[in-house]
Amino acid sequence: MRSGQRDEPPAEPGSARAQPGNVGKRRGLTGAPGVPPLIDGWGREIKSLRVSVTDKCNFRCRYCMPAEGLEWLGRDEILSFEEIARLVRVMAAMGVSEVRLTGGEPLVRRQLPELVRTLAPIHGVEDLSLTTNGVLLDRFAGPLVEAGLRRLNVSLDSLSHVRFAEITRRDALDRVLAGLEEAERHPELRPIKINCVAMRGFTETEVPALAELARRKPYVVRFIEFMPLDADESWRGDEVLTGGEVRRIIESRWPLEEIPAKPSSTAQRFRFVDGAGEIGFVNPVSEPFCSSCDRIRLTADGQLRTCLFSRREWDLKRPLKDGSSDSDLADLIRFAVRHKELKHRINEPGFVRASRSMSQIGG
Ligand code: SAM
Ligand code: SF4
Repeated sequence: MRSGQRDEPPAEPGSARAQPGNVGKRRGLTGAPGVPPLIDGWGREIKSLRVSVTDKCNFRCRYCMPAEGLEWLGRDEILSFEEIARLVRVMAAMGVSEVRLTGGEPLVRRQLPELVRTLAPIHGVEDLSLTTNGVLLDRFAGPLVEAGLRRLNVSLDSLSHVRFAEITRRDALDRVLAGLEEAERHPELRPIKINCVAMRGFTETEVPALAELARRKPYVVRFIEFMPLDADESWRGDEVLTGGEVRRIIESRWPLEEIPAKPSSTAQRFRFVDGAGEIGFVNPVSEPFCSSCDRIRLTADGQLRTCLFSRREWDLKRPLKDGSSDSDLADLIRFAVRHKELKHRINEPGFVRASRSMSQIGG
């Protein structure tokens, strides 16, 4: 059984509540004039799109990819930059204002700055960002900024060479740190966020050095709970090091105080009481935030996913190739969004894993 079956939204397309005319008249909703915003069947407005530009990666992080043997998509299977830009334009007109480029490793896609240059000026896109493992950032930070990138997330799970290689299966810490230094040289790129996946038995020892990094650098270090999206399918609930536990480790040394965050924010934000920097916790497992989720995802091969844990995808590539109009694409996206899952069910008996792993979806 696909997970969505238990999560069918209360209002089916065509019902009175779900009529575009009705939802568009709600107060405070955005989008191009005359275009109803994207509202799911549970009443959540979709504002944020993650775009995976490739499923390929030059790392093999244990929590994400297998050591070897994952087959890449063929060249002809992945969306072109023009196709991505067209979909972003259609969604921006429906109120999507945040676009994050991801992968796989987005910087292995050739000429990524050219995509940034195309997306940055799209009307309605207020926040264009990139998530990267940072290994190619020393080369690309400048061209990305020049093309219009203003926000950056870099994954970094350890500041120890040995531990870094253990988790990523690559000896590349120095290059990632060089990439961060290069990013720091561009004041346009703020805030620089560091993402660390928190795994029990690994991350506890890394926390103090990462917290210390947040204190001495202009980086917001965020700990993300390990989710069952690893290609090896070895995730177990007891391997999740919760945000609460990480926070206790940090507070045993440096007291923290909470900073208000946007309601749709995935992260709880904290600053060091002595004023020396910011830390974040993304706790999808111990404190799910599905009720305020405003995200959808586009895979590198043009499939729309309405949840990280979706078992169902909506094909946008074929209509793109078949010459569908923008209005046809918008209808399809609207229909998919109405069927967005209510929530993930990681903590429930009978949880069924997503149909693809993290690097193939775009985290
Ligand atoms: N390669 C880029 C990177 O690592 O930043 C972008 C893609 S990666 C899939 C996006 C984010 O997903 C990263 O911050 C990574 O740490 C996170 N991630 C990957 N697997 C995860 C898992 N099983 N649980 C939680 N986060 C995960
Ligand atoms: Fe690659 Fe990012 Fe997955 Fe690590 S987390 S294997 S860098 S896609």
